[in-house]
Parts: sequence; C-alpha cells; structure tokens
Amino acid sequence: MMLLTDNLDLAMKHVKGPMTAQGKQILDLVDHYNSHIYMMRQDESGAIVAHSMHKQIDKLLKESIKNRPPENGKTISCKSGCSACCHIQVRIADVEAELLLEAYDFDADVLNRISQLSKIKDGEWGVRACPFLKSNKCSVYEHRPAACRTQFVTSHKSKCDVKNGVTIVDRYLSIEAEGCTSALWSSYETGPLAQVMQKKIME
Ligand code: SF4
Repeated sequence: MMLLTDNLDLAMKHVKGPMTAQGKQILDLVDHYNSHIYMMRQDESGAIVAHSMHKQIDKLLKESIKNRPPENGKTISCKSGCSACCHIQVRIADVEAELLLEAYDFDADVLNRISQLSKIKDGEWGVRACPFLKSNKCSVYEHRPAACRTQFVTSHKSKCDVKNGVTIVDRYLSIEAEGCTSALWSSYETGPLAQVMQKKIME
C-alpha cells in the first residue's frame, strides 16, 4: 500500500481531473524509492535501510533548496532551539525505531516518557513534547526520523505555536525528499513515534 506524507497527500489533492505531470512525478518517485528499498532490504537490516534513507532525504533536500529556493524571497525559518514541530505527533517507520534503539542507550526517564506517550490517542496529543526533546533541542538529531527531516517552515516563527497538536505554517515542499519518506513509510509498518518505539522496546 502506498502511504504518502501529509505534504505529498496535500499536493496530490490539488491534482484535479486527469493525472497531471506533477501527480505522475510524485507517484513515480515513490515507486522508484519503493523499489530501491525493496532491493536494499534483501541484504541489509532495517536500521541500516532507515539510516541510508535518512542520508538520501538530507541529500535530496539540500539539492531541492539549492535548485528551487523558497518562493517570493522567503527563507527557511527553522533554527536550533525552535521546537514547535516537536510537540506534534510524528509518524515513523518501525525501522526508524530500530535505528534509534541501536544508536542510543536511552535512560529510564526517556523510556518512561515513551511509555506514557504511547498510551495517548491522536486527539489527546495537545501540546505534549516528543520524548526525545531535551532543553528544546532534539537529543537524537543525527538519527531523527524522516518526518522530522523534511519539515522546513518558511513563515515567521511566531506562526509556529502548537494549537491542539497542529501548527498553521507555510512549509517548504521538496517533492523528492517527501517521495523518499513516503517510500520508507510504504515499505514498513508505521505509526505515532511513541507507539512504534514502545512496541519495538517490548519486542
Ligand atoms: S525526534 Fe527530535 S526532531 Fe523529531 S519530534 Fe522528536 S525531538 Fe523533534
């Protein structure tokens, strides 16, 4: 099943009537990376596949921003210490949870937070912070999930407030990086970060 990121899903909803070139480009991209992941997972562990896809997403984003800067003279407003996006429920693939568990030795505090947050339903997320957020910074930055890598905001940071688990902001869209993320999600089991992490911890 093809699972698109929210941003790609939105882009596809703007594709009305017969399939446009952009709609086809999106589906072809996801298909391309799905095949890439399929080949890689024959020989590599899930954690290695996730790590490799994260590197690919970073590369694609860098290229996108260089070749297609944000429109109307806007710039990327995201800075270290901004953490509004870290108060929204993030979707991750189970292999990203495997990568995080392999890369970090989480203390009891983080494990307790994961366990507590894993019991929260979507609508009750509110303004709760990600279990990996420490002093307003991501404590797993190097191996943060794909969804966290692609969220670049171009509106003023004052618009980044979280209301009922939602931010109302303008985002930079890299179709390539979002296609890569969608393929990662489509190739493995996904869910809210805390729930997927908790499931992997209990295995
Ligand atoms: S993993 Fe890091 S970047 Fe992603 S939501 Fe959590 S703290 Fe924020």
